[in-house]
Amino acid sequence: MSKFWSQVVRELEPYVPGEQPQIDGLIKLNTNESPYPPSPEVIKLMTHDAIDRLRLYPDPNSKKLKNTIAAYHGINAEQVFVGNGSDEVLGLAFMAFFQQAKPLLFPDISYSFYPVYCKLFGIDFETIALRDDFTIHFGDYNSQHNGGIIFPNPNAPTAMGKPLTDIEKLLQKNTETVVIVDEAYIDFGGETAISLVNKYPNLLVVQTLSKSRSLAGMRVGFAVGNVDLITALDRVKNSFNSYPLDRLAEAATIAAFEDDTYFQACRDKIIATREWTVKELETLGFSVLPSQANFVFAKPAGNNAAELAQKLREHKILVRYFSAPRVNEFLRITIGTDEQMQRMIEVLKSV
Ligand code: PMP
Repeated sequence: MSKFWSQVVRELEPYVPGEQPQIDGLIKLNTNESPYPPSPEVIKLMTHDAIDRLRLYPDPNSKKLKNTIAAYHGINAEQVFVGNGSDEVLGLAFMAFFQQAKPLLFPDISYSFYPVYCKLFGIDFETIALRDDFTIHFGDYNSQHNGGIIFPNPNAPTAMGKPLTDIEKLLQKNTETVVIVDEAYIDFGGETAISLVNKYPNLLVVQTLSKSRSLAGMRVGFAVGNVDLITALDRVKNSFNSYPLDRLAEAATIAAFEDDTYFQACRDKIIATREWTVKELETLGFSVLPSQANFVFAKPAGNNAAELAQKLREHKILVRYFSAPRVNEFLRITIGTDEQMQRMIEVLKSV
């Protein structure tokens, strides 16, 4: 605390991301990044000319990128909003839609950034408990009394997805407030709700380039929805930062979308490695929740998750452990390369 801090800063409870330590030979399975490099087409863009152009501001509306995303998903460019990572897109969306008289609803076990935004923007919220099997039940969400609904699909950290039919039922019931589907991990086995945006004007779908397209270090995320929702996001963005995406980030994202073959190859490898990892973990006595993501949420038989995370760390393998009730018996393990996962399984066997 410092006397220079404003009241708002004194009361903040900032989000704490997974560690990014600089340790040689570290196997990093703690923040759900891709183990594969970005598309070679992205690497080709880093030319002398591209660097020279960094003296100029980028396009404040990232028009070319919006056209690319729109063409990829079969929508109009006016239905796309882009930002500096999906965290920023989500933050702007919380401000644009959820400062309401009624509380925002989200699952009790979910992305831990949501309550942080609520605190920052003074948004009242209610968490809805996942069922005992860690599933989300939309029937538990009160459609008459909410200022909005948000959930990740697949959920994090459980990795469990909801079918599109269930999401559509929620949208049929909940027509008066904005519903955000946070699809950070959708490419690893889920079904995107982007196909529903033309039918439901209150649906906003948020995705990221950080996971399935190997660009976490570039910080690019986007939202897709009805033009009215996108206009609201633009109003907030243009009151805060006119140029959220730099020139290299825009160009890299376009290249990543255009190289669909590379994207699919990386995604398929991660899914195959995930299936292998799940079998191996189950053989070691872990219970693993069904994963549609690039990570698994796994509970060791001996109820010693914290200790195992520490042991793995001693062997230079980082996984994520959450100490909160109900999730403190689990490890969240990002899917790396085959070699990395084999090493992790070896270490688990040895400890
Ligand atoms: N949503 C969820 C559910 C996430 O797990 C993450 C990654 N921490 C994000 C959004 C944000 O990802 P990014 O800002 O890298 O796009």
